[in-house]
Amino acid sequence: MPSLSRFTFGVGDRFAHQAKSQLSAFQQLAALGVSLTPVWNKSNREHSFIGSEPTSVRAAGEKAVADLGWKGPWHTDADHIRLETVDRFISSCDFFTIDVAESIGKAAPADQVAAFIAKHPELIGTLKITGVGAPITLTKADVEKVANKYLSATQEAARIYRHIAKTKGEDQIIAEVSMDETDLPQTPPELLIILAALADEKVKAQTIAPKFTGRFNKGVDYVGDLVQFEREFNDDLAVIAHAIKAYGLPATLKLSLHSGSDKFSLYPIIRRATAKTGAGIHIKTAGTTWLEECIGLAEAGGEALALVKSFYATAYDHIDEYCAPYATVIDINRAKLPSVATVNGWSGSRLANAIRHIPGHPEYDANLRQLLHVSFKLAAKAGTKYTDLLKKHEAIVAKNVVANLLDRHFKPLFIG
Ligand SMILES: [Zn+2]
Repeated sequence: MPSLSRFTFGVGDRFAHQAKSQLSAFQQLAALGVSLTPVWNKSNREHSFIGSEPTSVRAAGEKAVADLGWKGPWHTDADHIRLETVDRFISSCDFFTIDVAESIGKAAPADQVAAFIAKHPELIGTLKITGVGAPITLTKADVEKVANKYLSATQEAARIYRHIAKTKGEDQIIAEVSMDETDLPQTPPELLIILAALADEKVKAQTIAPKFTGRFNKGVDYVGDLVQFEREFNDDLAVIAHAIKAYGLPATLKLSLHSGSDKFSLYPIIRRATAKTGAGIHIKTAGTTWLEECIGLAEAGGEALALVKSFYATAYDHIDEYCAPYATVIDINRAKLPSVATVNGWSGSRLANAIRHIPGHPEYDANLRQLLHVSFKLAAKAGTKYTDLLKKHEAIVAKNVVANLLDRHFKPLFIG
């Protein structure tokens, strides 16, 4: 198993034109003394929306790495795959985000739950875990309840893990287990029980993506209780450090934060916690690079600006269609969206300022930003008209892609 770096950052590149700009941001961070490993991710859903193949993600990464002479590690992530969708990713990916959210809550057979409890007497009572804010105390009934809820999911993770390991070789894969796309967050004690179950199943996960409390909407800041988030995040780190020792999980095992772009209010919390404990982190972002493309095209003016305005007009007129697949991860106040006529009257910099996520900027518009964010299929439909403009205005788009990653994400997360 290739060992995963302490700090990794997932970037998406829906139209496969920004890998070089993205990598340049990692390079500039390295020059500031922070080594961060890029992971290019694209989910099965995005590939099907856009009509692309996983090999294109690998190829774009390879080209960027060669063009910039990147010497560090890098990975391509089969993002949110399941047993029925993983196969076309196996040859071109080395990082696999095994999504078992659908199996959460499916009751496991009673004898398997009983066997799990019998095997893990150490989970019952007041647990000695260094670093948790308050002692974790679990009864047998607590462990049984959690096992009932999560044992099927861990078994499903193992089925998928074994399938990938058998096909590609266990020494060639980095595994993440993801439970974030579900309704209820997992508490630190639940995370501990899940990790024990994954270890029983010999799933050598190097990252785990729980669902945290609070709202992780796409492309906008976190909405929730920051004090509670900090407490749970720190407890999760302590639980992971404990589980590595107690259950022989990979020493590189770390938390993975999905929908991690633009969570500006969480970054100082994450930076403090990783600095204090020495823990690693994987932050997964994906879709917002496409918004930087829109910002760059808006700034470029002319037909590029007109195309971005036409995306907004179509998205506005078909808002239900574009929002439906993302209904649970966006909060758009439709009454506050600017009208198509208003946006059509804007200059390029006015539109760019509305899309660009600078909290507190008087022209920033979270509603417009989220609507455009979920409407990336429009760019796929525009085809070469869109990608030709990306090529033509490469410099101005690149400037936005780099600044977004480096200044608004990497520096607050890793430098402060
Ligand atoms: Zn996710």
